[in-house]
Amino acid sequence: MVDVRLSGVRKEYDGVTALEELSIHVENGEFFTLVGPSGCGKTTTLRAIAGFEEPTAGTVQFGTREMTGVPPEDRDVGIVFQNYALFPHMSVAENVGYGLRFRDPPGTVTRDERVQSLLELVDLADFGDRNPDELSGGQQQRVALARALAPGPDVLLLDEPMSALDARLRDDLRTQVSRIQSDLGITTIYVTHDQEEALAISDRVAVMHDGRIEQIGSPEDVYRRPKSRFVAEFVGENNVFSGETAAHETGGSLVAVDDHEFRVADATDGNVTFCVRPEALRLGGGENTFSATVETVEFLGEAFRVHLDWNGKPVILRVSEAPENDRVRVGFDARDAHVVEGGTPELVE
Ligand code: ATP
Repeated sequence: MVDVRLSGVRKEYDGVTALEELSIHVENGEFFTLVGPSGCGKTTTLRAIAGFEEPTAGTVQFGTREMTGVPPEDRDVGIVFQNYALFPHMSVAENVGYGLRFRDPPGTVTRDERVQSLLELVDLADFGDRNPDELSGGQQQRVALARALAPGPDVLLLDEPMSALDARLRDDLRTQVSRIQSDLGITTIYVTHDQEEALAISDRVAVMHDGRIEQIGSPEDVYRRPKSRFVAEFVGENNVFSGETAAHETGGSLVAVDDHEFRVADATDGNVTFCVRPEALRLGGGENTFSATVETVEFLGEAFRVHLDWNGKPVILRVSEAPENDRVRVGFDARDAHVVEGGTPELVE
């Protein structure tokens, strides 16, 4: 097992900058996720780690080993892609064994024993004789995972492995991947555009945007303490308010948004942007209140998501009881307003 370090990695394609000076340190045994919108550079980063792309500048290191010029097959990485890429004419067991064709299995076991233990690991012990087309999408992806793990790689790379699956299968596979990763303790780098998946599965996430890292942190960190407006809006739902600081008070500041003043924990002078999560807003009281019009109400099962109109601006509220009237009073506390632009250095780094 190794840690993975990217230092100042830059990638250009014919004048197009796909990655700008990326520096990431993935710790040994960590489940690390690259998340961001389409085109932000996630796959390029993974391909640079795998060795399919050479960075234009910067280095990739596995442990103390510098990887520049090392081809993918010599990097000891296991890779799972979005499309299962199983060999249709081979049985499930042969597919898993394919990963061992140039390499002996780790330890003293035979190839057949290794294949069987991997099929057990991915809960497909009795499926070795089947063909891939006799499996569900989720099962095929588990075979692809077993095949990637067969040679005992140092690093596991997963590129949107669940995106072709329907929601239920995705949930099941997510739980399994998480269990297998923590059982094996293998350093894992996962790519997804699905921020919910990233939060659910990772030890840490890197939120990417336009070939740069916006923020690296634990799922709770990026959700609760986004460092930029982009992260605040990309990770989970958020209500974003922009205004000007009107006054400072003990333990807080007043920010004027249109002609309404909101109290937030702390802000500098000038323009300020703060966010309030839909679940931090409530019907009725709070340190800050405003009146809004109910546009639509969606029942989500465990909660209602209410779309409000406040002075022509959309506001989203998540509550356990649906509002009874079309006009509601909404409140939130100053500590639930997270300043992303124009905050004090302690709040915004
Ligand atoms: P997606 O979620 O859509 O797969 P991504 O975040 O993985 O997106 P990348 O595939 O890494 O993004 O692409 C990053 C940028 O680099 C994009 O602007 C893309 O168009 C560009 N790019 C990627 N590969 C090449 C290539 N081979 N030649 C030219 N440009 C490329």
